Amino acid sequence: MTTQRCAVPFHPDPGQPAHPTGSKHYLVTGSNVVKPGAYSSWTSADAQYKGVSGATMKGYKSWTALESAWWAGCDRGEHKHPRNPLLSVTPGHAALIATAVITILAAF
Ligand SMILES: [Zn+2]
Repeated sequence: MTTQRCAVPFHPDPGQPAHPTGSKHYLVTGSNVVKPGAYSSWTSADAQYKGVSGATMKGYKSWTALESAWWAGCDRGEHKHPRNPLLSVTPGHAALIATAVITILAAF
């Protein structure tokens, strides 16, 4: 099943590992944030967050918890990619599905 969720953009500080390690992760989100995603230091995260309208910043002790928070943003449509299709059935889609079911039933 396609879930339409993106990987969390990770922006490590210079000299830090390219993959998240340890127990301090900072997530910066918001449509006006230049580089939204995860940061390995409070200082770098705060630089993206400070003074940006609508930005949010939160620290997480586990990468899994940070990912969950980021993916909740996917599902809310905060990123520039399609939402989880299961969460974004429009009235038009529902009508198409209903029509298809009726057509199949009528065939018998
Ligand atoms: Zn996303």
